[in-house]
Amino acid sequence: MSKKDYYEVLGVNRDASDEEIKKAYRKLAMKHHPDRNPDNPKAEEHFKEAKEAYETLSDGQKRAAYDQHGHAAFEAGGMGGGSPFGAGAGGFDFGDIFGDIFGGGRGGGGRSNVQRGADLRYNMEITLEQAARGTETQIRVPTMVECETCKGSGAKPGTSPTTCTTCGGHGQVRMQQGFFSIQQTCPRCHGTGKMIASPCKDCQGNGRVKQHKTLSVKIPAGVDNDDRIRLSGEGEHGVNGGSPGDLYVVIHIKPHAVFQRDHNDLHCEMPISFSTAALGGEIEIPTLDSSARIKIPAETQSGKTFRLRGKGIKGVRSSTHGDLYCHVVVETPVNLTERQKELLREFEAINEKDSARHNPRAKSWMDKVKEFFG
Ligand SMILES: [Zn+2]
Ligand SMILES: [Zn+2]
Repeated sequence: MSKKDYYEVLGVNRDASDEEIKKAYRKLAMKHHPDRNPDNPKAEEHFKEAKEAYETLSDGQKRAAYDQHGHAAFEAGGMGGGSPFGAGAGGFDFGDIFGDIFGGGRGGGGRSNVQRGADLRYNMEITLEQAARGTETQIRVPTMVECETCKGSGAKPGTSPTTCTTCGGHGQVRMQQGFFSIQQTCPRCHGTGKMIASPCKDCQGNGRVKQHKTLSVKIPAGVDNDDRIRLSGEGEHGVNGGSPGDLYVVIHIKPHAVFQRDHNDLHCEMPISFSTAALGGEIEIPTLDSSARIKIPAETQSGKTFRLRGKGIKGVRSSTHGDLYCHVVVETPVNLTERQKELLREFEAINEKDSARHNPRAKSWMDKVKEFFG
């Protein structure tokens, strides 16, 4: 079953602002909300769709991933279930965002503030050789870890957080707005449900501190630009016991001095002297893992392409190697000596006697030009 485009689901443009996305979602959520459409599976379906779209597009990182890879961005990990980033396996969770808009209408008190940690993106530059052969490398990534001093509570050792008096520990406050009761994140405790009288000095009451960790990343042979490697659980820590996010290593391949890559094929320019072009010869050219010899037939023209089968790259998901294409460029000699010039003048003198035979292209072009100007 193909999934609908998230922007279409919300009815917004691809460049919609966060505010526009939120507004569109609210409108849909109110319209299709299960409480207003009891026993209407269609409405529930629309509601779920809108929620899923909103969850992705309201998160900068997920939105970027979606913009670039579409739904595939979230399917690679095989997380399954309706919600690509959903914390709970199986059934659909109406909880968090629903609560943000409609208040505690469903379930009431039992809400926790468990949040899955954010996914992180790490841009990695590698050389073409590394991409072709695969490589293993270490990266340092910033991460939030539980503060050791306060064991994550955010309160100074010896003290403990107290329940927020504004929201009674729910983390949300309800406001009446016309027809609906709107629930918002508690402005006092910012949704944590707790107040900290004397914050821990090491984490300023956050319960988490920033640290760097070193991770080993295995880059499989054949990766291409924008391929992503998912390091499961290496993203940011969750909040209140939520599972950690994932870390996505995104591949960027540096430009190569000799080769240009096109999927699994390689292309290179091959300058040859004009005497080699005319007389033929053999030249050695580099390939990614060694070198190869190319026989240049006599009378080779600029622009001719030699294809070396199997000298390209073996893609991550393919079983065969791509090819290497060498594009001939005949190089006009420069810095000529008097002797060379003399030989060329002599050559030209002979050439001119039967130019139609020796330079058929030039001859036919001249004929066309003459025709054109009458
Ligand atoms: Zn602390
Ligand atoms: Zn509060």
